[in-house]
Amino acid sequence: MDIEKIRADFPILQRRIHGKPLVYLDNAATTQKPRDVLDKIIEFYAETNSNIHRGIHYLSEEASAAYEGARETVKNFIHARNAREIIFTRSTTEAINLVADSFGRAFIERGDEVIISEMEHHSNIVPWQMLCERKDARLKVIPFNDDGILLAHKLETLITEKTKLISLTYVSNALGVVNDVKEIIGLANAHDVPVLIDGAQAVPHFPVDVQDLDCDFFAFSGHKIYADTGIGVLFGKEKWLETMPPYQSGGGMIAKVSFDHTTFADLPYKFEAGTASIGAAVSLAAAMEYLDKIGMEKIVSHERELINYAINNLSSLENITIYGKDRKRCSAISFNLDEIHPYDAATILDKLGIAVRPGTHCAEPVMQHYGISGTVRASFALYNTKEEIDRLMEGIKKVQSLMRPTGGK
Ligand code: PMP
Repeated sequence: MDIEKIRADFPILQRRIHGKPLVYLDNAATTQKPRDVLDKIIEFYAETNSNIHRGIHYLSEEASAAYEGARETVKNFIHARNAREIIFTRSTTEAINLVADSFGRAFIERGDEVIISEMEHHSNIVPWQMLCERKDARLKVIPFNDDGILLAHKLETLITEKTKLISLTYVSNALGVVNDVKEIIGLANAHDVPVLIDGAQAVPHFPVDVQDLDCDFFAFSGHKIYADTGIGVLFGKEKWLETMPPYQSGGGMIAKVSFDHTTFADLPYKFEAGTASIGAAVSLAAAMEYLDKIGMEKIVSHERELINYAINNLSSLENITIYGKDRKRCSAISFNLDEIHPYDAATILDKLGIAVRPGTHCAEPVMQHYGISGTVRASFALYNTKEEIDRLMEGIKKVQSLMRPTGGK
């Protein structure tokens, strides 16, 4: 992989921050956009922009074809069986809310159970919590241990005949650890329990095949995979999507409307009320084409090298705690510099041009597990380099010397 050529594809990486070359290590929050994606967005608005599906004029048909073409690209990228199973949403958050609302209305009753894990992002906790409150159902939680390992065997005791759905993250955004979701899906399937996988931190980093996983739902966000904000994807098996009621209602999701009765459109339109994020969907397809052009396998091995390099270097420091240190991980490393507040560390790093994220990472239960108020998270993408990790290391040493002038223990 020609890393310099790849970096040249991302104009923002040329920026200097506080007079220093930018080291962007906040990729778990959002990724930067390559020229291919930026050009596609400009091209769409300069040449094709029009509302989709309901027009018969030339531009409307061209925009519709671009939008449906994007759906086809997404389908191929995650290996869904059929484009009808690909619902465009605003984000991972909206995709999960869609399932919590719609699946919840159709299939969850008083006394039923939904299982999530202790390492979920808030967007895979709160929708289920609110659903369980509405329905008087019960939310159960698969715990993880201090090494960041999800205790999958506990699932056997958590699943009962009342369990209606399991919703689980593929990769923890707070810890960076990769869960063995295939094992859990297999276990759930053996009990006829459907599984939703939150793939927000997975799709940018390794190939995903929803048929091979055999998950029932899969959610992710465009902006974390080098595309625009305002576009997300919900994959759902047709058997569920067909039987689930619409989430939002309005234009575009209907077959026929009268004041007496409304019938709904076929999949996927039943779940796409209102004007879609058309340009953002087109940008998502451009991002996936860009990744395919580089090759996901090359991205996997480059990022693995980066992560190993970063873990080895960070481990050599004194007074550092790395969470889930020895786990299989991708992209994110969460750590604390003992007794230095994550916000202080991140603020000093920012002054050195290094963008990392301090805080709870929208995963407060993970922080509660460790009894901490937050961590510093460095998260990597395909354009990061070992030299940038060296800059991070220098930055951390500077933080330690500034915040603990005597150094050492
Ligand atoms: N799940 C995970 C694992 C995430 O990392 C994030 C974003 N940090 C989300 C869900 C929510 O994504 P979005 O804000 O794009 O909806």
